[in-house]
Amino acid sequence: MPQLSETDQEIFPVSAGIDDDGEITIGGCAVSELADEFGTPLYIYDEDTIRHMCRLFTRGFKDAYERSHIEYSSKAFANPALAKIIADEGLHMDVVTGGELVFAKAANFPAERLNFHGNNKDREELAEAIDYGTGRITLDSFHEIGLLNEVAGEKGVRQKVLLRVSPSVDPHTHLLTTTGVLDSKFGFSIETGAAADAVEQAMAAPNLEVMGLHFHLGSPIFELEPYSQAIDYVLKFAAEMREAHALPLTEFNPGGGFAVGYVGEELPPPISAYAEEISVAVRSGCDRYGLEEPLLTVEPGRSIVARAGVAVYQVGGIKRIPNVRVYVSVDGGMGDNIRPALYSSEYTVRRPQQPYASPTEKVTVVGKYCESGDYIAKDVELPVLKSGDLLCTPTSGAYSVPMASNYNMTTRPAIVMVKDSTARLIRRRETYEDLLATSLV
Ligand SMILES: *Cc1c(COP(=O)(O)O)cnc(C)c1O
Repeated sequence: MPQLSETDQEIFPVSAGIDDDGEITIGGCAVSELADEFGTPLYIYDEDTIRHMCRLFTRGFKDAYERSHIEYSSKAFANPALAKIIADEGLHMDVVTGGELVFAKAANFPAERLNFHGNNKDREELAEAIDYGTGRITLDSFHEIGLLNEVAGEKGVRQKVLLRVSPSVDPHTHLLTTTGVLDSKFGFSIETGAAADAVEQAMAAPNLEVMGLHFHLGSPIFELEPYSQAIDYVLKFAAEMREAHALPLTEFNPGGGFAVGYVGEELPPPISAYAEEISVAVRSGCDRYGLEEPLLTVEPGRSIVARAGVAVYQVGGIKRIPNVRVYVSVDGGMGDNIRPALYSSEYTVRRPQQPYASPTEKVTVVGKYCESGDYIAKDVELPVLKSGDLLCTPTSGAYSVPMASNYNMTTRPAIVMVKDSTARLIRRRETYEDLLATSLV
């Protein structure tokens, strides 16, 4: 029985395999059959992998710190079918806009398990969150403290909140996904004294009930040490604020950012290692600063869904520039996955049919958008391709379709969820009618 290579087994969905025809299958479905039925570009999500990751996180953190829960960060991939699985697995979920809240509502996601994040929530979004009974709202600015206190007052509600602080810790990831340093739009800086002022104001706001503190360093974070460094700093701050303003630290949320393996050579620490690092840091920090151990929440987004998703494209033209490069054009690109263009993100690319066939050649897989920066993967070794071949990129489940655009007036791809050899559409492909629907002549 043919098998995925050892490194591919780490980055493809847990249910992936190779069938008797030598083709990659996901959830028991051959990739080419899904492409035939639903067209390309296509995003395939594997339900088993999503559930597997939810359980790895829940168990990993419970083993290390009993009073913990896992909050899926829905911006990594917001979809009602996914939200139902997340709810079913007992996770909490966060949203960062009114639009993401609408998706949570569409899945009947339990309101008390929701946390509303974001650095500039407006009055309508805050009102919608309160009306739905959103369990926590994480406040990010002085403007929000005042605004939420006002909106909650109008509604006769005392809203439970967390304050997002910025611990000035650099997690050594991409500049564009670094969020917890001093020079960041996110959170109240502890270093400048803004966080202390925020605690004082929020504690004095009659319609807010402060439950504790939150921070998020950035993503993806391959190192463990930035977490413990930031946790210690924030717990020290919490102890100072308990003295100064009677701040309770009932809840503590050190964010998400857990890395995933996009290419076989760069695999992250296991979830259990993050859980251990964070739990030890929380326990020893509480001990050091005389705090009671809080309820611990972590917020994985990428690491819940990235590995579950596989993008499938079809090869069109192939351009060979002798001694320079071979460009392989596919029918998707930056419109459905802007991460390579935006963050220089790397992906593994496989031909689903006979993925390890030889001879091979080094190619650059590019999209169909009118930008030279539109590519999927540079200098990847693939079997010699011809027009009409399929290509797939594993670990495409996070921050690709959620960032998809209609650039060049392309239609955004279909998404299917596979399980036990069946596939169901969870988002249909857009049509030209969809493209025209919002424009007025
Ligand atoms: C994006 C985000 C997360 C999740 O980050 P991942 O890298 O996807 O795990 C968690 N918390 C906050 C506040 C975020 O903005």
